[in-house]
Amino acid sequence: MTDRHDPALCGICGRGTVGLGYAPPRSKLPPLWVCDDPECLSLATRTYQMKQDTFDRLEAIAAARGAEAMGQRLEELGKAQVFEGMEWEEWLDAVRSGIAGYRQCLKAEISGEAPF
Ligand SMILES: [Zn+2]
Repeated sequence: MTDRHDPALCGICGRGTVGLGYAPPRSKLPPLWVCDDPECLSLATRTYQMKQDTFDRLEAIAAARGAEAMGQRLEELGKAQVFEGMEWEEWLDAVRSGIAGYRQCLKAEISGEAPF
């Protein structure tokens, strides 16, 4: 699960951050860092107080919807049988691993390109 206050990951969408963040005055929590999407900054200001477990629950819902979309796309391609017999939780775990791997690899690739 994504740490909402990780300075390297947008606290809303999980993309890379760009040095923008939000924290209300006198907050005890660190800033909520965001990507370059203005909607993420807007959501950060409105959801700053959201607890990590609530964010984790919402992230799990988003991962499940992503898994459904991926499964639908595999069916459209006629490749869904590759995962036949797989339990929903196994499929969801595979999708979460893919998302986490994507984020980790993207960060590594981007950091490998710096300095520009
Ligand atoms: Zn974002």
